[in-house]
This record gives sequence, C-alpha cells and structure tokens, in this order.
Amino acid sequence: MNRSFKLFRLQQIDTQLDEARGRLAEIDQLLAEDQILHEARQAADTAAELEAAAQKVLRRADEDAKAQQTKLEQNQNSLYGGKVTNAKELQDLQMEAESLKKHLSGLEEIQLEKMMAYEETQSGVKKAQENLEAVRAQREIENRTLHSEQTKLQTEAERLEGDRVTAAHGIPDEDMTSYQSLRKGKAGLAVAKVQNKTCSACGAELSASLAQAARSPNELAQCSTCKRILYAG
Ligand SMILES: [Zn+2]
Repeated sequence: MNRSFKLFRLQQIDTQLDEARGRLAEIDQLLAEDQILHEARQAADTAAELEAAAQKVLRRADEDAKAQQTKLEQNQNSLYGGKVTNAKELQDLQMEAESLKKHLSGLEEIQLEKMMAYEETQSGVKKAQENLEAVRAQREIENRTLHSEQTKLQTEAERLEGDRVTAAHGIPDEDMTSYQSLRKGKAGLAVAKVQNKTCSACGAELSASLAQAARSPNELAQCSTCKRILYAG
C-alpha cells in the first residue's frame, strides 16, 4: 500500500469523524437550549399573576358596591320605616338617598369594568397555558428526534474510531506528523485527491513532474499551492 493512500484513507475517516463530532456538539447545544420553553413558561406565570391581581381588584369593587348597597338599604328603612316622622329629617334622608344612589351607580360601573378586566386576564391565562403546552409538545418531538440522531452518531463515531486505529496502523511517524500538522492548519483537510491533473482541494493545476510524484508509492508529494499531501487515486 502506498504512503499517500494510507493517509488518504485516514483522512476519509477523520473527515467523517469531524462531521459526526461536530453534529454531536450541535445536538448537545440544541438539547441544552430551552429559551423558547423558558419564555413560554414565563408568559404563563405573568398571565397568572395578572389574573390574581385583577381578581383582587374585582373583589374590592364588589365589597365597595355591597357596602354602599347596605348603606342605601339602611337609609331606605329609616325613610320608609315609619319611625322618622319629622319633615326636616325625612327631607334630609331623602337627600341622603339621592346621594347614596348616585354613588352606588358609580361603584357599580367600576364593578362592571373590573369584571371585564378580570375576564380578559382569564382568557390571557388560557392562551398562555395553551401556548406553553404547544411549545412543550413541540419540544418533546424535537428532543426525541435529536436523541435518536445522537445515538446513531455516537455508534457511528465509535465505529470510525475503531476504523481509525486500523487505518493509522503502519503509517510512518514522519508521515503522521506532517498529516496532523496539515490537518490543524488546513481546516481539517490534509490530503487532497488529484482530479484531472489538479488539486481537488485548491484547484491548482499540477506540473507533470508533481503529478508523477503523486503517483509514486514511495514518496509524499505536496500541492505546490496549498501544500496538502496529494493522493493520485
Ligand atoms: Zn492544493
């Protein structure tokens, strides 16, 4: 087996391993991310808080109206109960009744307003809850898909690691060193295939002597432009 072929084979495995590991890192990140779920949960909490506050305000409006109603009832009892007979007192009670009724009607308007505001917050809670459930369900589906892809990739990465040990076996130290240093400097791609007398990595045309050197089983030829190791195939 020639020197460049061994490195080419190793490169193929490393490229696949890089891809698998890159995607695994992405999946880890996607699984850890829960920004949308967090936001939906927060919106549901806020909606519930608004509902509770509106309910409190409504209760107070109810109590105010009820207290005013009681006052009016007391006034009406005095006015029509027959115990008060003095004309001046009766007139005062009549005036008080007018004022109490006016105030009560104002309070009832407020009560209605607060009731409507409360109902609005109730529908807000319902919407936020529905959204949270939908986000949760969607997230579950996505996570299931990601987990199954993760399992497949982990198995594939293990197999590739085994293949890599086999492929690396018998590669001279010197070749391995230049391969690894090129991998670091050339975005992971140390070995380029020769296609139509050009370097498939950078597209440079090879001189006749370089093309011939690339075919030699005993030497490693490097592209004169990108310096990658050439594999003639
Ligand atoms: Zn090149």
